[in-house]
Amino acid sequence: MLIVMKSDATDSQVEAVLRVVEQLGFRGHPMPGATRTAIGVTGNQGAVDPSHFENLAGVAEAIRVSKPYKLISLDLRPEKTIVRVGGDATIGGEELAIIAGPCAIESRAQAFAIAESVRRSGARFFRGGAYKPRTSPYAFQGLGEEGLRILADVRDAYGLKIVTEALDEAGVDLVEKYGDMIQIGARNMQNFSLLRRAGKSRLPVLLKRGLSATLDEWLLAAEYVMAEGNYQIVLCERGIRTFADHTRNTLDLAAIPAVRRLSHLPVIIDPSHGTGRNYMVMPLARAGVAVGADGLIIEVHDQPEHALSDGAQALTLDQYDELVREVRSIHEVITPAAVVNR
Ligand code: PEP
Ligand code: MN
Repeated sequence: MLIVMKSDATDSQVEAVLRVVEQLGFRGHPMPGATRTAIGVTGNQGAVDPSHFENLAGVAEAIRVSKPYKLISLDLRPEKTIVRVGGDATIGGEELAIIAGPCAIESRAQAFAIAESVRRSGARFFRGGAYKPRTSPYAFQGLGEEGLRILADVRDAYGLKIVTEALDEAGVDLVEKYGDMIQIGARNMQNFSLLRRAGKSRLPVLLKRGLSATLDEWLLAAEYVMAEGNYQIVLCERGIRTFADHTRNTLDLAAIPAVRRLSHLPVIIDPSHGTGRNYMVMPLARAGVAVGADGLIIEVHDQPEHALSDGAQALTLDQYDELVREVRSIHEVITPAAVVNR
């Protein structure tokens, strides 16, 4: 159920509707928009009778939602969501968001060498895993909490916002302590207890698409987070598994306009995991921006040949500089159209 308030509805009328929703045993999610507030109702198993709400003061209409998702949908919020990270940085607004850094935090010297370059490029976000989801249990698993402490020092030194992965619910507690944005990795996209925990966090969430997730599965994973009350979510297309073996994954650029058509959530592209190959990162980053992504997440290393994970897809610092210059000029060209399409 979606309750659309009249454009002149007052705050107290919105609150009165929320009280009725609660009395029925459901949860109301108010979404203030440019022209009106809508309230998404969750927690109901079957259909809710619209007549509970239709005659309440300030209500324009109560609509049954036939799609599987409610809160991520443009029906609830026609304007794009702008996700705020660490107070003053945003994803989903006019500025192209660039999240860059190593796959894994390996040492203080490594993190600082890369962060220096990321800061100089004008990017606002620094990525780096302290806990790594590795295919083999014998591969480098990340520095753990020590890695998070290094990330927190990077934030203090350079003012970059820290985006880092939580592998489990306890990991969310730690990211809340040291970071600015919780990354949920492809392998965890349907870890429902992790999604619920992230939904209770005050930090925004970067939700990667699962290795073989359909669009609906990915959006419903975001819905899990939102249903718990955290509306600050950025979706990330990072490639899916196909029969193609010339790339690590197949980067699904069509996911960007497909998400746009259904959801108000910002969506970014990861051409690093999306291709797995250094020489493909730049062309696919360009394409991601051209197709309308709100940002990019890029793996960069000061010494890719010595990287402890994902060295084959890491850009050198010089390559990264060049990438930022190129994608910014593409973004400037397409931004007027992107604004009209929103
Ligand atoms: C990563 O960003 O380093 C990562 C592990 O990504 P994904 O979950 O997309 O594989
Ligand atoms: Mn990686």
